[in-house]
Amino acid sequence: MTVNTAPEHLSSKDYIEMEEKYGAHNYHPLDIVIDHAEGCWVYDVEGKKYLDCLSSYSALNQGHCHPRILSTLREQAEKVTLTSRAFRNNQLPRLYQKLHEISGLSRALPMNSGAEAVETAVKLARKWGYKVKGIPEHQAEIIVFENNFHGRTITIVSFSTEHQYRDGFGPYTPGFKVVPYNDIDAVKNAITPNTCAVLMEPIQAEAGILIPKEGYLKQVSELCKQNNVLFMADEIQTGLGRTGKMFAFQHEGVQPDVIIVGKALSGGFYPVSAVMANDEVMGVFHPGDHGSTYGGNPLGCAVACTALDVLQDENLVERSATLGKKFLAELRNINSPRIVEVRGRGLLIGIELNTKARPFCEALKEEGVLCKETHDYVIRFAPPLVITEADLAWAYERIKKVIESFS
Ligand SMILES: *Cc1c(COP(=O)(O)O)cnc(C)c1O
Repeated sequence: MTVNTAPEHLSSKDYIEMEEKYGAHNYHPLDIVIDHAEGCWVYDVEGKKYLDCLSSYSALNQGHCHPRILSTLREQAEKVTLTSRAFRNNQLPRLYQKLHEISGLSRALPMNSGAEAVETAVKLARKWGYKVKGIPEHQAEIIVFENNFHGRTITIVSFSTEHQYRDGFGPYTPGFKVVPYNDIDAVKNAITPNTCAVLMEPIQAEAGILIPKEGYLKQVSELCKQNNVLFMADEIQTGLGRTGKMFAFQHEGVQPDVIIVGKALSGGFYPVSAVMANDEVMGVFHPGDHGSTYGGNPLGCAVACTALDVLQDENLVERSATLGKKFLAELRNINSPRIVEVRGRGLLIGIELNTKARPFCEALKEEGVLCKETHDYVIRFAPPLVITEADLAWAYERIKKVIESFS
């Protein structure tokens, strides 16, 4: 039997079957097949609409298909899309300047995915360790934290503490020391003369929205300064307004030596990531040391520039702070024996349950609210920052109803 694969003849069920049959099974998605989206809303193949409360893991802070970013994408796509770094293009310098303005750091290095940017930061830290700090060759150590999430490459999973992320992927890259999050003495004890950097998420999002104790980031940052160690913040998920500040480390007024961004840098249109640092650090890279064919391409840079403009022109950082505070307070009013804790910053909110979160996410999907469990027991809410109060209220009614239905 032949199946007519013209899109108008296929149902969600058909697409799910095709995906399960032909795709690698490295994800376990909720069974919604999205056909199109706008702002905070997505529509499945049958036309049913859902409120997106995940935002593709915070890559969609500006909302789906933002019209300004879309028109930049269209315009740039008709001019030039890829030059490679063998030549210069007129979009990359604009992005450099904007990244400098939001970060206060003097230089940036463009990549594509978040994991690539983390890899870049690891290379940068090691090279700085050898060439500037004077660490003996091959001895550099980077301190990372339990329950970290920095991506999926071999080197990055080498320092994951999640069994499944590592299982079957060895041998691992050496040179990383894992310490517990929120324990300043552990960081202190782990630092040696060979430590080149501390790599941390200012809020551990994938680990279940784990927010550090007040003052912790400051303590880590000071410890780094005292020991001539780079403080590197992975802001791929928490940055660009998600937590109610441009960067989550700003909640404690610290200034990292290296900042890593991705995800919302392109507002969901295109993979664009970047590593930012000052001259002393970025200066260790010389022509040929590192690169990427698509990194810094004019299409991605144009998109990223407009995505950053949208964040600023629409006051999305402030929106995230105000709406997030309100939403968090509302969610804390839900009375359920299933809830252990409701925590968050800005519009990055987690509800920790004393039972598996997946059935809640499935029930929420049936009600038209899309979210995803993280670390089994936490439901994450991270809607696009363009969400309205009315839409949040709509979501709240459904979240309350679903959670209360699991008694
Ligand atoms: C998503 C994420 C990454 C990896 O980004 P990819 O684009 O998926 O490679 C790294 N660090 C953090 C904190 C993330 O949330």
